[in-house]
Amino acid sequence: MSETDPVNAPVCSSRGCRADAAWMLLWRNPRIHGAERVKRWAACDEHLPVLRDFLTARGFPCETAKVE
Ligand SMILES: [Zn+2]
Repeated sequence: MSETDPVNAPVCSSRGCRADAAWMLLWRNPRIHGAERVKRWAACDEHLPVLRDFLTARGFPCETAKVE
């Protein structure tokens, strides 16, 4: 995953997707991340459910935030 600049329009984090992201997924892996450590993935409308399912299937807590 590349670094995401939340100020400029982010690009979807899904592999091979270059769409502008409409969503940010805020997540962490409780096994390796402390509670204060939050990872961010950008997601377009199409890939939001794909990325979210990937995280929830692994039991990672995640939140969805709209990109303004
Ligand atoms: Zn996408």
